[in-house]
Amino acid sequence: MTFPDRHYQAVRKKHQCFGCNKIIAKGSPAWYSVGVWEGDFYYYHMCDRCKEITDSLPNETFEDGLDQGFINEINENYKTK
Ligand SMILES: [Zn+2]
Repeated sequence: MTFPDRHYQAVRKKHQCFGCNKIIAKGSPAWYSVGVWEGDFYYYHMCDRCKEITDSLPNETFEDGLDQGFINEINENYKTK
């Protein structure tokens, strides 16, 4: 397996979206990503919407890493602008 690895597939059990904390229902398609960030192994599931938002963000956004629910924070920022 190469890192980082990402694929899009239906989840076999329910997962929480890393971006918005919503539950991704069993059988729903979601983005699965696995890799190593500064020596730490990570993996997460993300819904379509969060994936789209993440892809539109500038690279600087990821320099400090991302926290669970980061999309909610970004949405808050968008709203206040
Ligand atoms: Zn999401």
